[in-house]
Order: sequence, then structure tokens, then C-alpha cells
Amino acid sequence: MIDSEPDTWNMDPTLLEAAIKDRIEKTGKKPAAIVPVALYGMPYKADRIMEIANKYGIPVVEDAAEGFGSKYKGQTLGTFGKYGVLSFNGNKMITTSGGGALITEDEDHWREIMMYATQYRESYPYYQHEKIGYNYRMSNICAGIGRGQMTVVNDHLAHHKHVQKMYEELLADVPGIHVHSQPNTNLTNNTNEVPEYDSNYWLCTITIDEDVKIKGQENAYKTIVKGAVGGAAGVIHMAESATTDCQPNDNVEALRVLMDQAQIEARPVWKPMHKQPCYKGVPCYLNGVSESIFKVGMCLPAGPYVTDDDVRYIVETIKSAIVG
Ligand SMILES: *Cc1c(COP(=O)(O)O)cnc(C)c1O
Repeated sequence: MIDSEPDTWNMDPTLLEAAIKDRIEKTGKKPAAIVPVALYGMPYKADRIMEIANKYGIPVVEDAAEGFGSKYKGQTLGTFGKYGVLSFNGNKMITTSGGGALITEDEDHWREIMMYATQYRESYPYYQHEKIGYNYRMSNICAGIGRGQMTVVNDHLAHHKHVQKMYEELLADVPGIHVHSQPNTNLTNNTNEVPEYDSNYWLCTITIDEDVKIKGQENAYKTIVKGAVGGAAGVIHMAESATTDCQPNDNVEALRVLMDQAQIEARPVWKPMHKQPCYKGVPCYLNGVSESIFKVGMCLPAGPYVTDDDVRYIVETIKSAIVG
């Protein structure tokens, strides 16, 4: 596991190279693959990651699940590495209800992958399996939904960028609240130039300074939340405690609760993988960035049904939650 860099919140390339060197030194083996993630749609530094990957001969599998339509230096995410992965889950930029896509430009790789995805059936009149395969195909019904969704993808991309711009404008003068935006590219007057970052802004995120006082924050984490994040159809374990050893600051949790009461679904940003109990003991290369983002970050609504009025209402709710 590689920690984040501060500007994009994505895989830190410097730490990546340090990690590769350390793995080789400690185990004599290099990592099997590098998996950069476009967090909230923000492009990772694809050129630096590819440079390091090529230097050490390690394949890159881009997790562009959240970054569908995002570009780095004008090139679409998912087309840099050996493979790119997209998700069409219900909450992504476009959906097929469930499932996703794998991008490769190599026909032999595609054929081999499709063998695995279709139970590795050899071309005989009967089922002959030379290897263990899986049933990972997308159904024709889901694919049909996806084809319909492709007709709205440009609208969705434009909408998410518009919502981001509104948050940036409306929250600009709120002290202690910072909208997470892509790093600026200083473009010259050359009209052929493309920006380094072109995020799809799948999710809009803010950070809240620790000294911002939110109404009711003294009561944060006093009660156990009764419902899994994202609502897994009521299938949940009851949490044993209201707190864990790594959680957002009290003011972030208090703001989430106030937003929830105002019918706004806001969430903390993703908890760092190295802080997930299921990955305890997995080697990780840390700089503290992902953990510090988790303490102050919050995801705001950005989906296709979020109207301009909704954004104004969300911003007003945030402003009125601040004490003082
Ligand atoms: C959603 C998501 C996935 C998983 O996609 P599914 O289609 O839900 O399996 C993987 N990686 C990232 C970064 C995601 O956001």
C-alpha cells in the first residue's frame, strides 16, 4: 500500500518508487502490479507512475472506476497502463446497475481475459477447461443499459464539473472550508495546449479545518450508527462501538449529522486502506497524508439529480452549521 500525495490525494509516485526498491531489497521480488486509483475522479500523475513502472518492468492496472472520462495531459484514464478498469456500479459516472469494463489494446490479452471471464471453455463441442475460469461476463440486459447510458455520459461529465465549479464559487469565502480542486495548469497562449489535470469530479469533496466549530460537535460519536454506509440492503453487523482508532474529526462528524438531518447525504472521504482492520499487517509505505485527509475530508452530493438549487441549499446548510 502506497500513501497519497497532498495535491491529488492519489498514489504518491515518490513513495511508489521507494516502496518498489524496498520490496526488492526485502523480498528479492518486485511487486506484481501497480494499481493507481483516480480518487473521486482526480487523475493520478500517470506519466510519472508509468515512468517508474517501465523502469522496473512492472505492469500497471489503472483503477479508473471513479475516473471514467477524466484525462491526464489530454489522455483518457484507463489507457496508460497494461490494463484499465472501469466500474459501472450504480453510483458511478454511468451505470449498468452493476459490472464494469476492462480496457486493453492488445488482442491476445483481450482473448485470454475473455477466456477467464467465460469459464475458460475451449472450443470443443463439450465443456473442456484447460484452466479454472470464472463467470465474469456482463449480462446482455446490463450491457443494454450501458449502451443507453453512453448517450448521457457527456451530459453527466459536464454536470459533475458544473457542480464542482458551483461549490468552488459558493464556498470560496467560507473560512476553514476548502473545496478539493485539481492542481492548476499554468497554460500559455498556445491553443494546442491541454491542461495537466482534467478531473471528471465524480465526487466533490471538501476539507474542514480542525478549528472550525460546528453546532453539536460536542455530541459527535456519542451514539452508535445503525446502518451500513451505502445501505447494503439491511445486511449489517451491529457496530460494537461508536468510535474506532482512526476516524474523522468531531466537527466533520457533527456536520455530517446536521446535513443528514437536512436530508443531504454527505459522507466522510474513504478511510485509508492501511487503517482498515482487514488489511492489518499488509506492508505499507506511509507519509501521513491519507490519514490526515481522512480526518478533515467530506464528500458532497454531485450526481446527475443534484440541481443548482440543491447546491445552494447544501452550501447554506454548511454555512449555518458553523458556530460564530
Ligand atoms: C467502485 C469502485 C470499485 C469497484 O467497482 P465495482 O463495480 O463496484 O466492483 C473499485 N475501485 C474504485 C476506486 C471504486 O470507486
